[in-house]
Amino acid sequence: MTPDQMDSAADATHEAFMRAAIEQAQQGRAAGEVPVGAVLVIDGQVVARAFNQPILANDPTAHAEVLVLREAGRRLATYRLSGATVYVTLEPCLMCVGALIHARVREVVYGAVEPKTGALVSTVRTLDIPELNHRFVVTGGVLEAECRGLVQDFFREKRRSGRVGAEDQGSGVAEIPPEGEPPPDQTAATGAPEGQGGTGE
Ligand code: ZN
Repeated sequence: MTPDQMDSAADATHEAFMRAAIEQAQQGRAAGEVPVGAVLVIDGQVVARAFNQPILANDPTAHAEVLVLREAGRRLATYRLSGATVYVTLEPCLMCVGALIHARVREVVYGAVEPKTGALVSTVRTLDIPELNHRFVVTGGVLEAECRGLVQDFFREKRRSGRVGAEDQGSGVAEIPPEGEPPPDQTAATGAPEGQGGTGE
């Protein structure tokens, strides 16, 4: 294969696994969670799949990436996932980047950037910290529009139905206007009554 052919073969592989992650995100959406999905792949095989589910699980750490690491570790009976590539529909947060480093994954492929919480390129560039004892390869922007659209649609629907509360404001992706559209109206998103919960942010 020529280098160009190899690139396009890698792209097709990335897209195929990202579609599996998107399917997970869609399941999350159906369950009422912010739609983020992940799959963990070793030697071309999906070893674990999960969607974001902190609400369902009553667990602030139940992000899709953490859940696939746990599931893969259990299935393979190991805490080191050195050959793994994790596909996730959104740029991982600081917690998840930390977990992915601990797991020693080889590569992380994400769909859309997450301007508010993403910890690879958006808020902090975690892997630039020189003292880290492990780094992984990062590929971003795979099926980016679809991955971003899922989250945007989710929040748009919530705003429309007036169900956006303080706990739902965790995603900066919802605030990236799709091309050709004006920025979304923030009034609904910030209109939660005072004293109602809050994320402590
Ligand atoms: Zn996370």
